[in-house]
Amino acid sequence: MSEVIQRLKTVRRGVMFVIEAPSGTGKTTLIKKLLAQDENLKFSVSVTTRPKREGEVDGVDYYYVTDAEYDKLVKEDAFYEKVDSQYGSRYGTLRSEVDSFINVGQDVVFDMDWVGLRQMKEKAPNDVVSIYMLPPSIKELRKRLEGRNTDSQEVIDKRMALIADKMQHWVEYDYVVICDDPDQTVDTIQQIFSAERMKRVRQIGLKEFTQKLMDEALHG
Ligand code: 5GP
Repeated sequence: MSEVIQRLKTVRRGVMFVIEAPSGTGKTTLIKKLLAQDENLKFSVSVTTRPKREGEVDGVDYYYVTDAEYDKLVKEDAFYEKVDSQYGSRYGTLRSEVDSFINVGQDVVFDMDWVGLRQMKEKAPNDVVSIYMLPPSIKELRKRLEGRNTDSQEVIDKRMALIADKMQHWVEYDYVVICDDPDQTVDTIQQIFSAERMKRVRQIGLKEFTQKLMDEALHG
């Protein structure tokens, strides 16, 4: 029996976990922690036309492409979703990257905004699970942004206005988690992952298994 149960675990459709949070909430650190502790979770590496930042690695953080290469991918319908940022750079999620995981029962985590989420939900409504992370307070968020020491006060004020604007979209997410304690937040999100993985529609191997159980119950 344990062999059957083991096989069932592998006959599952992967889940697409879209996580969003206002900048400064700790989304990047959280995603890294989840990836480190959950071997069935993979990161969807997006394509971008923005220049590589210091410390970033091609193929790990993003696939960095030229505008012409990006255009070619659009023409080939290679993207699940794509977005143009207000800063002029473009981002996109590759179908090939995501499907290669989902089809073999591996789950994928995405770092994308509500514009991307809407497109993903349209293309794969049964596979997408979305989580919105809220900071415990705006005071705390401002403190964290200022603590980074990378931006001027003017830039921070602009970011705060943008955050308020984007936050309106929290109602479009399946789950909302307030990120008070970072470790607790990781645990809470892991629990969401566990529950979503157990959903009947995702356990595609169950049909065969339950049929066998019913046959055995009827015929011994
Ligand atoms: P950054 O350039 O700072 O890495 O990312 C800027 C924004 O683009 C972030 O809010 C991030 O969530 C979003 N982003 C990154 N990759 C994608 C993607 O493939 N699709 C969408 N829709 N947004 C993305």
